[in-house]
Amino acid sequence: MALVHCPVCNKRNSDKAKACQHCNTPFDGDQEAMARQKRIRKIKQQASLTTHSFAALTMIVGAITLYFWGLETPSPERAMTAYSLGVVGSIWYMVSRVRLFLSKRSS
Ligand SMILES: [Zn+2]
Repeated sequence: MALVHCPVCNKRNSDKAKACQHCNTPFDGDQEAMARQKRIRKIKQQASLTTHSFAALTMIVGAITLYFWGLETPSPERAMTAYSLGVVGSIWYMVSRVRLFLSKRSS
């Protein structure tokens, strides 16, 4: 049994399959349907990445708020929590933005 890559989601399928097992794209050669599926997938992916980057931004704002809450010097635990949140949020934000950028460039 040979394996073929789905043109839409790029996952592997049996060459005997009539449609992708992962995204249900038919392999019957309907180029238009395939292109439409691919576009829809891309739009969904970009919407999801945009949501991720906003969630990451919220996390960063949350970290800053936690650190400066009450305008007092934060306890070491609170500073550490805020710092960790900020670092994770920043990395998450950058990863989302880079993925969004790559996704938009390839479309
Ligand atoms: Zn597929």
